Amino acid sequence: MQGHSNIIVTKFGGSSLADATQFRKVREILISNPARRYVVPSAPGRRFDGDTKVTDLLYQCCHAVHDGGDLETPFNLMRKRFLDIRDELGLSLDLEKELDHIHEKMLAGADADYCASRGEYLNGMLLADFLGWRFMDAAKVVFFRADNTLDSEKTNVVMMALLADDQPTVIPGFYGIAASGRVHTFSRGGSDITGAIVARAVRAQTYENWTDVSGFLMADPRIVEHPQEISRITYAELRELSYMGASVLHEDAMFPVHKVGIPTIIRNTNHPEHEGTLISLTLPVEPTEPTITGIAGRKGFSVVAVEKAMMNAEIGFGRKVLQIFEECGISFEHMPSGIDSLSVVVAADALAPYREEIVRRIAETVEPDSLTIHDHMSIIATVGRGMVSNCGTAARLFSAMSRANINVRMIDQGSSELSIIVGVDDQDFEKTIRAIYHEFVG
Ligand code: ASP
Repeated sequence: MQGHSNIIVTKFGGSSLADATQFRKVREILISNPARRYVVPSAPGRRFDGDTKVTDLLYQCCHAVHDGGDLETPFNLMRKRFLDIRDELGLSLDLEKELDHIHEKMLAGADADYCASRGEYLNGMLLADFLGWRFMDAAKVVFFRADNTLDSEKTNVVMMALLADDQPTVIPGFYGIAASGRVHTFSRGGSDITGAIVARAVRAQTYENWTDVSGFLMADPRIVEHPQEISRITYAELRELSYMGASVLHEDAMFPVHKVGIPTIIRNTNHPEHEGTLISLTLPVEPTEPTITGIAGRKGFSVVAVEKAMMNAEIGFGRKVLQIFEECGISFEHMPSGIDSLSVVVAADALAPYREEIVRRIAETVEPDSLTIHDHMSIIATVGRGMVSNCGTAARLFSAMSRANINVRMIDQGSSELSIIVGVDDQDFEKTIRAIYHEFVG
């Protein structure tokens, strides 16, 4: 299935709907293109630095009720946020009734998911009223299974049927209904997922994800000054970058649309004239674009290095080592290996509680010649679909690192040639990202 209609599904993040001014911008964007017929809102986000998101206020309400704190302060702040938006927009929706009902449910011990979901629920009602569109409660169209994973099939079938009449509709993000009949939420930032699910259900041509940045940047702007914007990226590249810590879109928001070939566009509510970043399944490699698409990385890894002469001849060696990690519930990130050595790269905080056990069990099970753990390693992924067709990319990357006096502690290149991964000391993290960026982008 491809996105073949001319329908555009839009999702607006919390900062895009933080106050009445932002609501007006959202309406302008929606009415400027009649193809935008479905909208998924987040709860009102921060209006200024230091402001509190409505979702956080709602979690505070829940903690207050369950841990015996003060419910009224966060509740009234949340209440005022919604009433201010309604009044400033001159709407007459009876939100007080909804708010009183939520207050009662909280006093009766409502759980965290119910409390948190009310931000999207109320914002959806407000937005629908402001636009004159239909409101569709996500609890009627987004279903979770008994193990709380999304029931993708059921959601798709029900949503498709209910939205088949083509009526412009507001569907709140972030939550749905669990098999138990209770409201259940995705993890934080989960409205992105709802938007993707709606896009799939209506076979949208495009899923527009409106936020407060004009798309993805090639590197973290806290590390590289004014990094270039990424105008086009594939889902596979984005997955590599998000896995490594670049975040704009919820990781799980890619699958529903990716699978059916619907492109996602990240756009800026405050700069709608900006084209943003287009994410799609496949993309041609343009000669005008840099060879790499982006760089991202994370600090805080440990490398468990095992050495044993003639390891290569010992069938099952790798499995035995990995099984020990598996039994401790630790997932490994990378596993570079040589003829007589094998290194397992894991997140340091996942390793910490099992460190001694792992050392003991590896020693007992495979009797290595040496077993060492190197801490404080960072992993940096340089990602780009253009790397396959450009020889010399690795050479350029490593010479840039060597010129910057950076010691490479690990190298890993996936067979897809989509990324080159290097491990460096945590203290070289920022320096490495800058060296690679300047080598390829200038
Ligand atoms: N409001 C929720 C959060 O703050 C979900 C979302 O915005 O996507 O995480």
